Amino acid sequence: MKEPSCDEKEAVERVNFIQQRIVGDLAAEENSGQVHTRFPPEPNGYLHIGHAKSICLNFGLAKKFAGACNLRFDDTNPAKEDVEYVDSIKEDVKWLGFDWGENEFFASDYFSRLYDYAIQLIELGKAYVCDLSPDETRKYRGNLQEPGRNSPFRERSVPENLDLFTRMRAGEFADGSRVLRAKIDMASGNMNMRDPVIYRIAHVEHHRTGDKWCIYPMYDFAHGLSDAIEGITHSICTLEFQDHRPLYDWFINQLDTLVKPQQIEFARLNLSFTVMSKRKLMQLVNDNLVSGWDDPRLPTLSGLRRRGFTPESIRNFCERIGVAKRNSMVDVALLEHAVREDLNKRAARYMAVLRPLKVIIENYPEGQVEELDAVNNPEDESMGRRKVPFARELYVEQDDFMEDAPKKFFRLTPGREVRLRYAYYIRCERVEKDEAGVVTALYCTYDPATKGGSSPDGRKVKSTLHWVAAKTAISAEVRLYDRLFSDPDPAAEKDGEPFTKKINSDSLNVLENCQLEPALAAVASKQTVQFERLGYFIFDEQDSDSEKPVFNRTVTLRDNWAKKAKAQQNQNRKKK
Ligand code: ATP
Ligand code: MG
Repeated sequence: MKEPSCDEKEAVERVNFIQQRIVGDLAAEENSGQVHTRFPPEPNGYLHIGHAKSICLNFGLAKKFAGACNLRFDDTNPAKEDVEYVDSIKEDVKWLGFDWGENEFFASDYFSRLYDYAIQLIELGKAYVCDLSPDETRKYRGNLQEPGRNSPFRERSVPENLDLFTRMRAGEFADGSRVLRAKIDMASGNMNMRDPVIYRIAHVEHHRTGDKWCIYPMYDFAHGLSDAIEGITHSICTLEFQDHRPLYDWFINQLDTLVKPQQIEFARLNLSFTVMSKRKLMQLVNDNLVSGWDDPRLPTLSGLRRRGFTPESIRNFCERIGVAKRNSMVDVALLEHAVREDLNKRAARYMAVLRPLKVIIENYPEGQVEELDAVNNPEDESMGRRKVPFARELYVEQDDFMEDAPKKFFRLTPGREVRLRYAYYIRCERVEKDEAGVVTALYCTYDPATKGGSSPDGRKVKSTLHWVAAKTAISAEVRLYDRLFSDPDPAAEKDGEPFTKKINSDSLNVLENCQLEPALAAVASKQTVQFERLGYFIFDEQDSDSEKPVFNRTVTLRDNWAKKAKAQQNQNRKKK
């Protein structure tokens, strides 16, 4: 398979723009030669593959430069946050293969220090309590063409501000009635510098601090100062914060913090055929368009895990796409390629028949079961061998048989001989049908001389089929997952149609009566396996029970979407 477009050399160079900065800082003996990064999720949703990019980058840089990386929960917006998210985030970061050790922090642990910083700003005459309503504040703010106007409360005295802010904290005022704002420049060309709000009143319980606080710091204020408190040297974030950088620096400079972290922006990961914003993911979950945050079709790490993606494949993917300064869309085929590449080497291969068609080998002794030798992975002999039972009654895939086959169909058809993998050549002699004319069983003969899959007389067959012996088969449910959206950029909503209307109607097919070879019962549940000729699959721990195992399809063996796209292109060309 041709690898999806990705210039690896370019990717390596792209990584360098942050690395080069760090190398430069180290040479200049900035930050006493330390490199300290952080991954700062807000616990208001589950992590997705975009976060994985940030995790790999931040933990990767710390490792490369023998520094440290903190896991910091940016929990300053209690109305939307929850411990469920905190727990899932920790699980996901660990699963991805990163260890923050002792460095687990919460912005909420700094609420007192942040409050003190706010008091300092007031004392410096750099912050004031403003009583404008949110609506008025917006009007006073101006826009990109027009400068803002000073709030009538801007010139309040320091003692008055201190008094009001203390009373805000004491709970004397209603939500929305007052805010604390930084006193910067209402005429600034950068809207972020027009006296941004730094504290708001919210009588809301916080999942960690309970009802201790009724004022909460805003993101821009809390984030940079939390970085400073933790001694972060390089605060890496996505491009939309570029315009916030002057504000980030302003707080740090006014408050004369011990460490002066620098903010560096990189392009966030956008992936085709999916959505990545937490709001949209939340909508899919809340509207029951998927089964939950860990639905195997979602780009969440818990979804990808349940789908059978490996941490290695995700890390490789993140490495390959590199780090850029301009936003772009990465083809989801590249992620799928990364998981195929990883699993091709590592996944043990088994036989499973998803849509069974009964085969009766008429010349095979009734009651006999033979244990045939099979390799677990031809790419890696060290993965060993196993026995596969063979008997008179077997299952093959329905679509490996055609009664009136066209010339190019080389699989089973009456009169044709094929190879059963690891077993024998068989020939289809006749078919059995039900009243509706549907084929219900194939009567075949086998050639005992072809044991192991080759004929001593050099007779060739054109195809090799997978199969499962009926008597020893495990019955299972298999869920065939595919891309959740049929539109490459569902979030763009270009044609005015909401993204929820662009769901691929084929993104999940549930097959209830699949037949698996018995060795699959012993497969360690967390490991992704290959079903020969079909794709990669993983046991679903959540929905399996002792009666019926459930397997999820990770990916098909080949990129069917590329094939479809090519066929479409050819058709379009012909039309012209
Ligand atoms: P929202 O979707 O609500 O904007 P978010 O995705 O920014 O939220 P956070 O929890 O704030 O979620 O993100 C934690 C970190 O992950 C941030 O540093 C953020 O820049 C980074 N991050 C988030 N999405 C991506 C992405 N698609 N690509 C790269 N990094 C990302
Ligand atoms: Mg964010």
